[in-house]
Amino acid sequence: MIYLDNNATTKTDEKVLEEMLPYLKEEYANPSSMYDFAKKPAMAIQEARVKVRDFLGAKSEDEIYFTSCGSESANTAIKGALNCNKAKKHIITTKVEHPCVLNTYKEFERQGYKVDYIGVNSEGQLNLDELNEKVTKDTALVSVMWANNENGVINPVAEISEMVKAKSPETLMFVDGVQAAGKIPMDVKNTKIDFLGVSGHKFHAPKGIGALYAKSSARFVPLINGGHQERGMRPGTENVPYIVGIGKAAELAMDSMNYELTEVKRLRDKLEQGIIRNVFNARLNSSVKERVPNTTNIGFEYVEGELILLHLSDIGVCASSGSACTSGSLEPSHVLRAMGIPFTALHGSIRFSLSRFTKESEIDTVSEKLPSIMDKLTQISPFQDELSKLRELKR
Ligand code: PLP
Repeated sequence: MIYLDNNATTKTDEKVLEEMLPYLKEEYANPSSMYDFAKKPAMAIQEARVKVRDFLGAKSEDEIYFTSCGSESANTAIKGALNCNKAKKHIITTKVEHPCVLNTYKEFERQGYKVDYIGVNSEGQLNLDELNEKVTKDTALVSVMWANNENGVINPVAEISEMVKAKSPETLMFVDGVQAAGKIPMDVKNTKIDFLGVSGHKFHAPKGIGALYAKSSARFVPLINGGHQERGMRPGTENVPYIVGIGKAAELAMDSMNYELTEVKRLRDKLEQGIIRNVFNARLNSSVKERVPNTTNIGFEYVEGELILLHLSDIGVCASSGSACTSGSLEPSHVLRAMGIPFTALHGSIRFSLSRFTKESEIDTVSEKLPSIMDKLTQISPFQDELSKLRELKR
């Protein structure tokens, strides 16, 4: 099996699992209890909080809250901030956010909020002038993702936070950092970002654990009501093993950041260049330098993405299509549509996402095997004239 779908989820690192196991077995005490048996899990939570603080570059561990996933972090920040201060009714986000942000914004839109959705160019880069223009003193919240899950494009979120606060110091800013975490360095204290969400399963912790950074000055109300856990902002008995897991995963991600930025990027570039060179109907959907090092999105013209995925799956390769197949529909992805990817490549776009566990031999296998898959699929495409022209152009 060749796993190239690390933006969907990652393999849990063995070292993460090892660190978690004692808390799934013998160290099962409720960390809030008074006896000595509860001290170790209570301390383990604090240690994990410090690791996540360092991973995100927060000033204090008191700015870190553990959640169940990236979606919960986004919902907590957006709903928590807007429900805390209902005076302003204008909010801004981008057209290419993950549904956990877009659908939360839609809910506020239904409640009567005015929402501006900022567009991107053909390379997936955000229109910063449009964003700057839309921010006013009446803007309650701006949400911009750090890196896009489909094309890997990085938004200059530090610069954006400066820009937003320069126009309107009281406007809050949420950053969905789910696809940036573990792939590029994060140093939130040197930005004007108020909230930042991450998800453990995207950087080799298991599924079911996330974190939210909330700057000490940023006010929000909790999503759920309950006890005192996470300083009352995320009640519910702590998921100690998974909190320990995200802490260890954060530590390992910091240790391997250099590898990610050099070696993972080298392999991604090799895969990208190999495919573009060898497959006549392939086009890069974004080629900007400002992309996370593990992601590439390639459009295969006049071929159905689902068919490509099935053929890849037959040879043991896991990748993902641009279609919103998670929703069971074959609607082309909202991200690729916002980029204006031509219709001819929209349905045949495939995302390959690597990790620090990806081997060079795996990349070589995919580059070698894709041309024959594409030969088969182009033969059954109804667009034979267009494909012949493309073949001629590539010669
Ligand atoms: N934000 C982005 C950019 C994502 O890619 C994802 C997951 O794919 C999420 C948020 C949601 O994270 P989770 O699955 O942990 O809720």
